[in-house]
Amino acid sequence: KRRIGILTSGGDSQGMNAAVRAVVRMAHVKGLDPWAIYDGYQGLVDNVMRPLAWADVQGLLRLGGTVIGTARCLAFRERAGRLTAAQHLVENGIDALVVIGGDGSLTGADRLRAEWGSLLDELLATNRIDQVQRATYAHLNIVGLVGSIDNDMSSTDMTIGCVSALHRICEAVDAIEATALSHGRAFVVEVMGRHCGWLALTAALASAADWLFVPERPPLVDNWEEEMCAHLKKLKDRGQKKILVIVSEGAIDKNLKPIKSEYVRDLLAAKLKFDARVTTLGHVQRGGSPCFYDRYLGTVQGVRAVDEILRATPETPSPMIGISNNKITVEPLVQAVTLTHAVSTAIDAKDFARAMELRDPEFAT
Ligand code: ADP
Repeated sequence: KRRIGILTSGGDSQGMNAAVRAVVRMAHVKGLDPWAIYDGYQGLVDNVMRPLAWADVQGLLRLGGTVIGTARCLAFRERAGRLTAAQHLVENGIDALVVIGGDGSLTGADRLRAEWGSLLDELLATNRIDQVQRATYAHLNIVGLVGSIDNDMSSTDMTIGCVSALHRICEAVDAIEATALSHGRAFVVEVMGRHCGWLALTAALASAADWLFVPERPPLVDNWEEEMCAHLKKLKDRGQKKILVIVSEGAIDKNLKPIKSEYVRDLLAAKLKFDARVTTLGHVQRGGSPCFYDRYLGTVQGVRAVDEILRATPETPSPMIGISNNKITVEPLVQAVTLTHAVSTAIDAKDFARAMELRDPEFAT
């Protein structure tokens, strides 16, 4: 039986388990032998892997996080680490890998595949594998699935986990709104996303935030503090009791300096005399059970990943499974990794601008 490995790597996200379950079960359906590699690339380097039976993935759909573990693995960033990883793959008879992770993890996957031939040559030259193994495992197939709460990968509209994280943020912001209203406070809510503002942008839309900072579109003016305070003062003078500002963790100004939540809070307190607080949502955004969309995406993409492994030839580049216009897509992994991206493709910028106008009656004509 052909053996395939599956690993989850980088930051965990809701729906990774759904993808693991789908890959494992589809592999069994197709007569393959699926193996879990634990804690991402660390499990490859440390040789921690084992077969997964059909029943081993029972009940996974509703669980957040990833039951096969994830990690950030420094060793895998070095060739020596990837050499050991290659040796363990060959020793365990694995010639195909499904990697579920963010852009970093998929970059690592692409590197392993690009170096595969030379890694095997080095293993052979140092007697860590023999001639037969060199010939049998000459090609490594890798399929990438994007698991990330940040929705920060190009070539796909949505990543596995981002919608669940957004739901979690909305719940938290709704809770904060209630207390903000009661006390007449200003809240600065900091959300995750690294260098991508998708979570902040969508959360701002979904919660009718009064101001928003994202990395992709820094304030255009130097004196953005005055601009923000003038707008928020107008809302206050109009009788609005609470203020909600959403800050993406990677927010920057036009000189690329970070915009810190605490700094925004201090401005609201000093200039507008608000009782202002910061809430950093943190890891609660990753927690809880996945929403329908992430269960769906993990499942259909996991199924497709197994199809792609069976279809791959030594000549085809490693694919990344995405979704575009509600269709599952397959693009070369290297292309998706290389492409930089502006604001997420998941929301049309014009539609978003129109929706934000709904907050301010002065836009009304
Ligand atoms: P994410 O996949 O969520 O973006 P990271 O960027 O932390 O998370 O990447 C996860 C892991 O992928 C890293 O700890 C490392 O083992 C591997 N990795 C990331 N970038 C590279 C790279 N350029 N070369 C090799 N491995 C990498």
